[in-house]
Order: sequence, then structure tokens, then C-alpha cells
Amino acid sequence: MTSAISLRGVSRRYDVGGGEVYALRNVDLQIDAGEFVVVLGPSGSGKTTLLNIIGALDTATDGTVEVGGHLVTAEHRRDLFRFRRDTVSFVFQSFNLFPTLTALENVQCAVEIAGRARGAKEKAAAVLAEVGLADRVHHYPTELSGGEQQRVAIARALATGNPIVVADEPTGDLDFHTGVQVLEVLQRQADAGHTVVVVTHNREISRIADRVIELSGGNVVRDGPPVGGKSAVADLHW
Ligand code: ADP
Ligand code: MG
Repeated sequence: MTSAISLRGVSRRYDVGGGEVYALRNVDLQIDAGEFVVVLGPSGSGKTTLLNIIGALDTATDGTVEVGGHLVTAEHRRDLFRFRRDTVSFVFQSFNLFPTLTALENVQCAVEIAGRARGAKEKAAAVLAEVGLADRVHHYPTELSGGEQQRVAIARALATGNPIVVADEPTGDLDFHTGVQVLEVLQRQADAGHTVVVVTHNREISRIADRVIELSGGNVVRDGPPVGGKSAVADLHW
């Protein structure tokens, strides 16, 4: 399966109180399989809308969306259910872990829901080790730091085997040092072949990517290497 993302003429329009609001306006975008891309823009610029449309949690009102070989804008409800389960994994700012499940159980549960029950526990343990949490697998979310919880959420996104990971302000609730660790984990996953799209409103964070897509008022206003050049994660200051 290809994990490329292609948007052509995509708009997301809301009809509000007799007027129209465009969360996204006529966006053309091509993201190749295995790319690590940062989406940058101020609050309200359409970043979350873009991720939600890529993951079929929201629907474009105009244009064509093709993700992982699926023409999302033409698929039926039943097929979209499978697409959401098998293609795009989400990481959120607020982690969204089940509080009554351990780290291991949170990840295992996602693997089982993805239809891969056999070996799910071993898979979950292996991916938690990959994100540096081998000694935290039996901890509950309240027994983990914010950065550890976010790494569990990343492990959950990765363990399902979905080829595309989108992360919506994943460092927003984390301090600088912890956020750096989380970005490093995401970057490693892209190096390992995942297509990774990370949203942030922090320009400094955007410097870790080869490619930065900037949104303003629902428009793509810039698409290219970070202003001032790419930076190693370890050299960021935010
Ligand atoms: P960001 O993630 O960059 O902060 P969003 O994608 O959440 O931006 O929102 C983009 C724009 O779309 C905002 O101006 C917001 O007010 C508008 N918007 C989002 N959801 C709705 C909605 N349900 N009804 C009307 N406008 C909305
Ligand atoms: Mg947002």
C-alpha cells in the first residue's frame, strides 16, 4: 500500500449564521510516502481541519482527497470505517489514553481493535520498548509523566501498523525537554518508513522538518524547507 497523501482543490466550508466560513480554502497538496512534514500556522488557520480531512474524521466540501491509495472523497461509509482503522493513526495534544488501562493494555487494545488480535500483547510490548517505555508498561496513565503518556499514545498509533501517522500539536501540553523527546520518536518513525504529519503553531518546532507547510486563514501560504534552515531536534529552543 502506498502511504502518499494528495489533496486537490480541497475546501472545508461551514455555513454559519447566513454566512460562510472557510476552515480550508482551495488547498492543493502532495505528501509522498515516508515524508516527515510539519504543518505550521496560528490558531484558527485550519491545521486541525487539514489533519481531520486526511484521516477522514472530517469531510471536504469541495475537491478530491486521496490517502494511502484510497480516493477518500468517493468512498462509502462502510469503506471509510476500514480506511480510518487501517490507514491513518492520530496522536492528540491531550494524549487520550484510557485511564483504567495500563500503558501496555492501552496499546494492546488498539492493536486488537485494528483486527490483529494474535500476538497483540507482544506487539504492544515491543513498540512500547521502541519508544523507550520498556520499564513503564504496567503503569497507569496517572502514574506516567506527560511525555511518557504521549509516548504511549505514539506507541498506540504505531502498533496498529497503519502507514500514516498524523499528530495534532503533540507537544502542546509538554515542557521543552519532554517535547523534544516526543518529536525525536516521531522523526524516527518517519525514518523507518511511516508518513508523518505533525501540526504545531510553534515556528521553532517546525525547523526539525525538511518540509514545512504553512497555513493562514485556511490557505497554504508557504510550502518548503524551514525558514532559517533545518535544525536537529537536539538544537531546538522553544
Ligand atoms: P487550527 O487547528 O489551525 O487552530 P481549525 O482547523 O480548528 O484551526 O479551524 C479552522 C477554522 O475553522 C477556524 O476559524 C474555526 O473557527 C473554523 N471552524 C472549525 N470548526 C467549525 C465549525 N464546526 N463551525 C464553524 N466554523 C468552524
Ligand atoms: Mg487545531
